[in-house]
Amino acid sequence: MAERPMSEHEDIPALDLRHVWHPFTQAGAGAPPPEIVSGEGAWLRTADGRDILDLISSWWVTLHGHAHPAIAGAVAKQAKRLEQVMFAGFTHAPAVRLAARLAALMPEGLTRVFFSDNGSTAVEAALKIAWQYWRNKGETGRKRFLAFSRGYHGDTLGAMSVGASSGFYAPFEELVLPVTFLPFAATWEGDNRAQEKEEEALAEIDAVLDEAGGEVAAVIIEPLVQGAGGMRMCRPEFLRALCERLREAGILLIFDEVMTGFGRTGSMFACDKADVAPDIICLAKGMTGGFLPLAATLCREEIHDAFVGGDFGNAFAHGHSFTANPLGCAAALASLDLFESDSTLERVAVMEGIHRRRMRDLARLPNVRCARVMGSIAAFDLDCGDGGDSKGYGSAWSRRLREAFLSRGLLVRPLGNVVYLMPPYCIGEHDLHRAYDGIFEMVSEL
Ligand SMILES: *Cc1c(COP(=O)(O)O)cnc(C)c1O
Repeated sequence: MAERPMSEHEDIPALDLRHVWHPFTQAGAGAPPPEIVSGEGAWLRTADGRDILDLISSWWVTLHGHAHPAIAGAVAKQAKRLEQVMFAGFTHAPAVRLAARLAALMPEGLTRVFFSDNGSTAVEAALKIAWQYWRNKGETGRKRFLAFSRGYHGDTLGAMSVGASSGFYAPFEELVLPVTFLPFAATWEGDNRAQEKEEEALAEIDAVLDEAGGEVAAVIIEPLVQGAGGMRMCRPEFLRALCERLREAGILLIFDEVMTGFGRTGSMFACDKADVAPDIICLAKGMTGGFLPLAATLCREEIHDAFVGGDFGNAFAHGHSFTANPLGCAAALASLDLFESDSTLERVAVMEGIHRRRMRDLARLPNVRCARVMGSIAAFDLDCGDGGDSKGYGSAWSRRLREAFLSRGLLVRPLGNVVYLMPPYCIGEHDLHRAYDGIFEMVSEL
């Protein structure tokens, strides 16, 4: 008898149930996860032959499409040449080329690139660089970070500390660093209180800075869009005004562009769109087009200068086994090439136009509130009658909503009562319209 392929002997769902621990998942509730066997463009294919339209870019990472041949080819080519080498004491062309290309895309002055593996490590590195920068300069009084309420920066301890108000960290409250949270003036289409809310938020920020500005090492912010906190968007004017104040107070500005980077807001980076230059910027998620875990923390040269000298004590003693992995760097370079050869940002502009038209229709439904669009991101709040606590991220209600989308072949993963779309840039216009038809139908039946 001919040997059958392994996959027909293996019971993947049963083995998953027995051995695998999934992220952000209560294994005791809900249906088991579908097994995905392949992907192409914006589509994922399940083991039982169903096609699912990936409307959230598989947790915000996929840019040009699943299994894109150009990136797959670049990774394969690099793998046959050099798959990995330690990055302390060695260097390699893919990392150097990528560092130079990232620096060229940044606001002027952000020239120094520290590589790591994911969004959380990019944030940890940024916080530690900011902290040590002051100490290397002999200023030891800056013992506090500022962050924004409902911000999210990752799940490791430092990143968690500056995102502690996002609502995911209740069991770890006693573990966090000293952080003061500032208000984020979120707004939406047709919000006529935007300016008023910004003035209130800025007044609160001024009060914090007057009292404790001198004790602060750095502030971290998701520029223009707070992702996991509920796709909350602010106006560029607000971002510019608050950055000006923080700058004046001598505080280092860290932009967490882990989600907003690489075209998500319609510009290559949110800092371009808002026309503000931070001191440190964190990149990850879309950096490799969604192929491999790779991240970067970019700094102004003057920050790096504070670490350079004869003394190892002043060096940044931080690194990860796979720092600047050549495969990740090759994927990132291929992804950047696609931005040019495929006019990717023009595709994002087309997507934004569709989002705006279709969100206007959705906003007419009585249970849709606060519709908002920026670049490839569209979101709205579902008004579910009661205050909303029973509709939070981990609620059965939210899980059932997710399962209902999935049963229509749509990968949409609401953040509590916030429904959002963040499709890969390659999604076909027809597919996106069909997705909106399905969402409209579902929301109007709720
Ligand atoms: C997802 C995210 C992170 C964490 O990235 P991981 O790769 O999941 O560790 C950090 N900051 C922002 C803004 C994010 O959206």
